[in-house]
Amino acid sequence: MSDTDGEAVPKVPAVPAHPYPFTVLTLFPEMVRQAVAHSIVGRGIAAGRLDVRAVDIRDFTKDRHRTADDVPYGGGPGMVMKPEPLAGAIRSAREAQPAALVVLMSASGRPLDQATARRWAGHTGGLVLVCGHYEGVDERIAEHYADEEVSIGDYVLSGGELAALVVLDAVARLVPGVVGNEASIADESHEAGLVEYPQYTRPPVFEGHAVPDVLMSGNHAAVARFRRESALAKTRRVRPDLAARVVEVVVDRRRPSTPARPARLGRPRPGDPE
Ligand code: SAH
Repeated sequence: MSDTDGEAVPKVPAVPAHPYPFTVLTLFPEMVRQAVAHSIVGRGIAAGRLDVRAVDIRDFTKDRHRTADDVPYGGGPGMVMKPEPLAGAIRSAREAQPAALVVLMSASGRPLDQATARRWAGHTGGLVLVCGHYEGVDERIAEHYADEEVSIGDYVLSGGELAALVVLDAVARLVPGVVGNEASIADESHEAGLVEYPQYTRPPVFEGHAVPDVLMSGNHAAVARFRRESALAKTRRVRPDLAARVVEVVVDRRRPSTPARPARLGRPRPGDPE
């Protein structure tokens, strides 16, 4: 964009007064340190907008063998993470980061979604992310030490590290100044309860497949309509659960007194309610 084309100069995003703090409690701190050194999170750390610490839970064991797990009461396969080292690690993290929310990674937690990531990004006290391993962690940690329990999806990982990195990434990119272009966030999948519209870049024809003409038409209104309609169509195709919710919200907003009902998505037709 040139200085003379009359468009508004992009606003410099507000810089947070302090870096947004994350502490990850894990048996594999190197896994976390290596992952956060790259890409947007890595740049956010370098720019002083994020602060990420990985703390070894084994540092809070008391025995010579640094034992972090034990056999489950009641029997059954595998090992369970002992409560004492976890409790020690969480207490120490809370001392260092007193206003933090402590979030336990757990296959039986509440599913992570964009609204949760936004809520956490707005929590300036930051996050302490607790990674389980083996068969999981002693339930008393979930009950008495964690503020929340989160799952990144309906599948089982072998450890909480990848889940914590997913949470960290999703939250970090919502911290002001971490993603260069704030507008790119507003348009993304799940921000409006839909998946994102399809994106294309050059070349105009790739292996015989052309970019939709409308995107090259220069007609901004037509481009906006195409994007909205294709986002709705794709949401309906791949995420009928989300599409149903969007319709409920729309119907609710239109007529606050009418109970939500499923309705058709897509191009408006004559007779549709406004
Ligand atoms: N036995 C447990 C799974 C333990 S997996 C169960 O059936 O629920 C070991 C650790 O990996 C968990 O303690 C948790 O920290 C992490 N984990 C596994 N799946 C996860 C998921 N879907 N979301 C978040 N964390 C997960």
